[in-house]
Amino acid sequence: MKILISNDDGYLAPGILALADALAPIADITVVAPDSNRSGSSNSLSLDRPLSVYRADNGFYFVNGTPTDCVHIALTGVLSFKPDLIVSGINQGQNMGDDTLYSGTVAAATEGFLFGIPAIAFSQVEKGWEHLDSAAKIARDVVQRRFDSLRRPYLLNVNIPNLPYQEIKGVAATRLGKRHESEGVIKSVDPHGREIFWIGPSGAAKDAGEGTDFHATAEGWVSITPLQIDLTHSAQLDALKKGLL
Ligand code: MN
Repeated sequence: MKILISNDDGYLAPGILALADALAPIADITVVAPDSNRSGSSNSLSLDRPLSVYRADNGFYFVNGTPTDCVHIALTGVLSFKPDLIVSGINQGQNMGDDTLYSGTVAAATEGFLFGIPAIAFSQVEKGWEHLDSAAKIARDVVQRRFDSLRRPYLLNVNIPNLPYQEIKGVAATRLGKRHESEGVIKSVDPHGREIFWIGPSGAAKDAGEGTDFHATAEGWVSITPLQIDLTHSAQLDALKKGLL
């Protein structure tokens, strides 16, 4: 099995190193990841400048671009083969509910999915890399599952609680929860006296009921949410059609 690995925390992040180490014994891996932390970059492509690919001493390729750039150019210009699977992460911090729209980790997987390749995004729920070895083992377990019941390509969003491997209860199929609005922007003043703004943290979970990714991970389960990209609101479409008559 040939696996392309990317992330949004950058090619030096502990999460991608752990993921590559965990998958190397079971697959032919290639890492193409951003040169720096591009968390929150969503599905962005760099169209205003060229991209360069460099090779690190450990064999990882790194790119002066976004996670989406990395997977896009890997599939269209760097790799001489089509991977069987795209794996992204392991992200530092959860990507649950509405996070998935902003996440570069999910976006890297999504780019593979859009090219017709099964893809899995992995995130650890808490920041700080605690029990990263456990998360990497979980990621390997998930990659080794066949998911025969799913239509291909699939796009899976996996969130892993920061727990020792033995304390994780198992994997649960979930839906995305929802968050409250983001917390307020943080205002400050730059050295020139100009007002500056830091985007604040995401809001707390709003819909964290049973069946959601929030609920499963809080209970000690690994959540796996199958994602789709079609944003069409079918019920609204019907209402709109009626309204236009
Ligand atoms: Mn990140």
